[in-house]
Amino acid sequence: MTITPQQGIMEIALYQGGAASVEGVADVVKLSSNENPFGPSPRASDAVRQSAGSLHLYPSTQHERLREAIGEVHGLDPQRVICGVGSDEIISFLCYAYAGPGDEVLHTEHGFGMYKISARAAGATHVEVRENNRVTDVDALLEGVTERTRLVFIANPNNPTGTMIDETEVTRLADGLPENCMLVLDGAYAEYVEGFDAGLSIMEGRDNVFMTRTFSKIYGLGGLRIGWGYGPKEIIDTLNRIRGPFNLSAPALAAAHAAVRDTGYTERCRLENAKWRSWLAAELGKLGVPSDPSECNFILARMASPEEAIACDAYLKSKGLIVRMVAGYNLPECLRITIGDEQACRRVAQAVKEFKGRG
Ligand SMILES: *Cc1c(COP(=O)(O)O)cnc(C)c1O
Repeated sequence: MTITPQQGIMEIALYQGGAASVEGVADVVKLSSNENPFGPSPRASDAVRQSAGSLHLYPSTQHERLREAIGEVHGLDPQRVICGVGSDEIISFLCYAYAGPGDEVLHTEHGFGMYKISARAAGATHVEVRENNRVTDVDALLEGVTERTRLVFIANPNNPTGTMIDETEVTRLADGLPENCMLVLDGAYAEYVEGFDAGLSIMEGRDNVFMTRTFSKIYGLGGLRIGWGYGPKEIIDTLNRIRGPFNLSAPALAAAHAAVRDTGYTERCRLENAKWRSWLAAELGKLGVPSDPSECNFILARMASPEEAIACDAYLKSKGLIVRMVAGYNLPECLRITIGDEQACRRVAQAVKEFKGRG
C-alpha cells in the first residue's frame, strides 16, 4: 500500500463504545454509556418530529437560535458560544486549532478517551499525569506542564471516576498555567451537580480558559450528537474557521433548543439521578463494593481485583445488565455503572448481591 496516513494516525487505538446487547438475553438494560434512562424532554422529541417536514432545507450555519437559548438559560454571551457535533467535535476543533506536531496535550491518567484520540489526530503528543486516588491532582498537572504544553484537559466532574475538584483547586490550576497554555474544562456532567456553575466564574477575566458542554448526558440527546463550547471570543472565532458550515442538522438544532429551555425537565432528571445514585452506592457498599462519592450519572464500583471485575461484569451480563469495564482507563478492577431508573438500579443491586453470594 503506497497510500499512507499522516504519522501517528495508526497509533490511535479505536474508541471502544459501550455494548448495547447480550446474545440470548431478552430484558437487557444498557448501563454502559451514561445515557439518561428517561430519554430527552418530550419537547425535544416533539421538535424533532416537527422538523421532519422540512428536511430538504439546509440548516442554519451560525446556530444563532440555539446559541441564544443557551446564552439565556446559562446567563452567557451567545457570541462566545460555539456548537458542535457532540462536545467530541469541540474537543477535536481545539486540538486541530491549537496543538500540532511537537506540541503536548495534557490530561489525567483516568481522563476521557477523546482527549488522547483528538490530540494524536492533530499530530500532537498526549501526556498523561497521575491522579490522587482517582481524583484530579492539580500539582501533578502543573508539574506535567512543559514549554510545549498547549492544552490541558480536565473533566470536572470526571468520567469514569465520577469525582470532582472544587473551585479553589480549579482556580489554582488556571493560575498556575503559563499564559500560552489553554485550560479546557469539560463540563459533560456539570448539570448533575447541584448549584454548580461548571467553572464559569473561573473563566471571567481569563483568556486561556475554555469550557465544553454536551446535550448527550442529562439532556438525553446522545443519538443526535450535539455539544457546545464557551470561551474567549478570539478562541471561538478561531474554532469557527475549521468548523464545517453545516455541522449540525436541523433536527439536532431544534431538539437542543427545546431541551435547553425545558429546565424543569432537566431538574427532575438531576434529582432522580441523585436519589438512585446514593441508593445504589449504599447498597453496593453493604455488599463490600465501595465507590467514590460520584457527582455524575454513574458510579465507579471498585471490585477486589481485575479478575473479580471481569467475573462480575460477566455475571451482570448474564442477567441482562450491561455495564462498562474501564481497564482502558487504567482502572482494571472497576466497573462503571450508569444510574438507570429505579428498576434498573434494583436489578443491579440484586445481581451484585447474587454474584457476591456465589463468589
Ligand atoms: C460523554 C462525554 C463527553 C461528550 O460527549 P458528546 O456526546 O460528544 O458530547 C465529553 N466528555 C466527557 C468526559 C464525557 O463523558
